[in-house]
Amino acid sequence: MRVCIVGGSIGGLTAALVLEESGHTVDVFERSPQVLAQRGAGIGLLPETSRYLTDVAGVDIDEISIATSSIRYLARDASVEHEVGHAYRFSSWNTVYGRLLGCINRESYHLGHEMVSWEDQGDSVTVSFADGTSCTADLLVCADGVASSSRERMHPGLAPRYSGYVAWRGMVREADLDRQVLARLDDAITYHVYANSHILVYPIPGPGGETAPGDRSMNFVWYRNYLEGGDLTDLLTGRDGIVRDVSLPPGTVADRHVSEMRAHAAARLPGPIASIVCAAAEPFVQVVYDLDIPSMVSGRACLLGDAAFLGRPHAAAGTAKAADDAWALASALDSCPTVDEALSGYEASQILVGRGLIERTERIGRRSQTENSWVPGDPDLIFGLRGPGQ
Ligand SMILES: Cc1cc2nc3c(=O)[nH]c(=O)nc-3n(C[C@H](O)[C@H](O)[C@H](O)COP(=O)(O)OP(=O)(O)OC[C@H]3O[C@@H](n4cnc5c(N)ncnc54)[C@H](O)[C@@H]3O)c2cc1C
Repeated sequence: MRVCIVGGSIGGLTAALVLEESGHTVDVFERSPQVLAQRGAGIGLLPETSRYLTDVAGVDIDEISIATSSIRYLARDASVEHEVGHAYRFSSWNTVYGRLLGCINRESYHLGHEMVSWEDQGDSVTVSFADGTSCTADLLVCADGVASSSRERMHPGLAPRYSGYVAWRGMVREADLDRQVLARLDDAITYHVYANSHILVYPIPGPGGETAPGDRSMNFVWYRNYLEGGDLTDLLTGRDGIVRDVSLPPGTVADRHVSEMRAHAAARLPGPIASIVCAAAEPFVQVVYDLDIPSMVSGRACLLGDAAFLGRPHAAAGTAKAADDAWALASALDSCPTVDEALSGYEASQILVGRGLIERTERIGRRSQTENSWVPGDPDLIFGLRGPGQ
């Protein structure tokens, strides 16, 4: 089959590689005019996200991620209030994206192509781009992310729901950190949970993908509540005056908000964690949304990854869900006699995965951000796509 994929991030790239592996002819169309650098920051790396790289491309998992062996909670005075042995892997968005991009035939990865519409002809679909070009394929895979125009077309008016909080994020090179700070955070994901908020810190590859101790970075993700309306809009009004709705990239957050965030960190967070937050040169913001949709398929078009279901980040499963959708789609196309049956099977299985993730991450977020009922050691908190640790 000829497959057109819209969106060239981790979901779109994984779909392209897995479908190519199944023998399909694939083209990826990404609206960004240049490769997606600077979308950095850490990701909890679940097996689904790295499956193509490790199982097909033969990449050594230690080259693209850092293993940690415990989950640690620090109290306000930086003493350890809870610690349990648990193995996780962490990587960075740039590292995974860069490796996937290195696997794809670059002639089939088209930058600077923004899809503006598509027309379904029954057994084919024609996609039109902003530059006036078009592509006709047997199947359109829409991997166009959180603000997906494809989802809006399939489900008009069904917009992501603001969760009530955002994630402040940032990274610092280990080399720029005090040794005592690093020792407190070593070999672990480290949490601090306090009034209507929580923060987590973990090691990730350095800006060039370095995984050796000393060359890596420390990454923080700090969930903070902002009221919908003026409070949130004020935060999302960047230093350039532009109001964004999904994220404020590094370098765009207004100085007064960065100053407030650092002052709050110094006053309220355990010392080692505050050191990371205050040292991050260009902290940035991602708004946390939920979205459940009634269907993922329309004719010969299907949604994949964040374009379909949007779960909160608390299971570290966003890229895993996108990659899992890609594998499920390829498997359905391989095993079903017709494309329509394959798309029905894909939809039936991945709707369950998406809904389960949304329910669980909404519950976890509520415990921290509104109910203050988060209990360190609660098994529900273990990262995983299909359930804790799964
Ligand atoms: C605070 C936070 C923490 C997170 N932590 C983790 C974690 O630890 N682990 C994890 O796995 N995930 C994590 N995630 C989630 C993860 O970042 C996303 O789930 C993942 O990036 C989704 O991938 P995607 O390919 O579906 O969409 P995206 O990465 O959003 O990509 C969509 C792409 O489509 C392109 N596009 C959009 N519209 C068009 C168009 N019309 N035409 C052409 N191209 C278009 C965009 O430019 C973009 O490149 C986190 C998310 C947040 C907010």
